[in-house]
Amino acid sequence: MNTIQDCRQRDNTDPLRSLRNLFSIPPGVIYLDGNSLGVMPKAAPARAADVITQEWGTDLIRAWNSAGWFNLPQRLGNMIAPLIGAGPDEVVATDTTSINLFKVLSVALSMADRDAPKRRLVMSERSNFPTDLYIAEGLCQARGYTLQLVEPEEIAAALSADVAVLMLTHVNYRTGAMHDMAAVTAAAHARGALVVWDLAHSAGAVPVDLTSARADFAIGCGYKYLNGGPGAPAFVWVNPRHADRFWQPLSGWWGHAGPFEFTTDYKPAAGINRYLCGTQPIVSMSLLECGLDGFKAAQALGGMTALRSKSLALTDLYIELVEQRCAGYGMGLATPREHTLRGSQVSLTHEHGHGREGSGAFAIVQALISRGVIGDFRAGDGLRHKDILRFGFTPLYIGFEDVWNAVEHLRQVLESGEWQQPQFNQKHQVT
Ligand SMILES: *Cc1c(COP(=O)(O)O)cnc(C)c1O
Repeated sequence: MNTIQDCRQRDNTDPLRSLRNLFSIPPGVIYLDGNSLGVMPKAAPARAADVITQEWGTDLIRAWNSAGWFNLPQRLGNMIAPLIGAGPDEVVATDTTSINLFKVLSVALSMADRDAPKRRLVMSERSNFPTDLYIAEGLCQARGYTLQLVEPEEIAAALSADVAVLMLTHVNYRTGAMHDMAAVTAAAHARGALVVWDLAHSAGAVPVDLTSARADFAIGCGYKYLNGGPGAPAFVWVNPRHADRFWQPLSGWWGHAGPFEFTTDYKPAAGINRYLCGTQPIVSMSLLECGLDGFKAAQALGGMTALRSKSLALTDLYIELVEQRCAGYGMGLATPREHTLRGSQVSLTHEHGHGREGSGAFAIVQALISRGVIGDFRAGDGLRHKDILRFGFTPLYIGFEDVWNAVEHLRQVLESGEWQQPQFNQKHQVT
């Protein structure tokens, strides 16, 4: 049986429980949106104040050396590396996910142009995150490639001799469905295609092993499960076997072999450092370090393996409780049940309506937010993809009692019909 007492008991015996104290969670809030914007580490305000008043205010330009500003991309990259199965000095934190995708996809196309010029397709998943598709669309247009979009189950069969690059997001942002990175990479390589992985919903959420999967390129996001703060820098990894082969197209001075030689011509730095472009947002970078410190603390308690076990226990419990306690109200499950097939979020559907105005999914999310249970809504296409209520479970700071309470609020919203009130059916600019 699952009761609230059982959930409290599980929190009391949870070996990761102490990690929650590293984060600031507003009273009365059950935060199930860490897959979109992670919560604030308690260390962040003091760190920001120190960067601004001491490092900027007092140390001024000396801080590039004295406070280690210039090496932040590498230092943070080395903190991210163990979370994604990358080696030391193979990752840099920099720019945004969109920009890093532009860089690595450009290089993948340059490699294909040289090694396999007959291949003219970039393949991706139709329900990939839009910015990934937009960046690919723009690059395909500029470079004479065609973007081919398929459903996940069609990927293997569609990997023809025309595919130059397979570009996928490891964990789908809508459904939470997860690809088998090693198997998909091997299948693509067997057909002669390069693989770019977007780890936006994987880094810090599920164990990733880019090295053993023999992946070609990877990028990911700093402000989701890594808790780096709004607009935090993203990260980029290139398999060392490719890293020195081509220039990335944003060949700025931070990626130069000797940035302070101020030479007229560009000479790319060795390895991943050439994927830097220009001066980084130092305040944001510093805050990302506070987020990554949470994973350093988790390392002593079993790291990503322990976090993954807890994440699966939380999501299993959430699914089970929704099915037990919210039965008969038209809720459905859009996330695969099987552990190997999903990340750290659970997406639900509701039978009523479609779209931001008039959809049960939208209104239920709004009603839950008004009660302090923060998830979000993602519209479907009205055909294959239904509207989704999306709930991320960050094992660093979500507990089992939170899961119980989140389901209890959902049950009350459904039973009372509260979600049908007009104020929960109004569209906002950011959803
Ligand atoms: C969140 C997310 C992004 C975000 O890109 P930005 O450049 O930070 O806006 C990109 N791709 C995927 C798959 C994401 O989930």
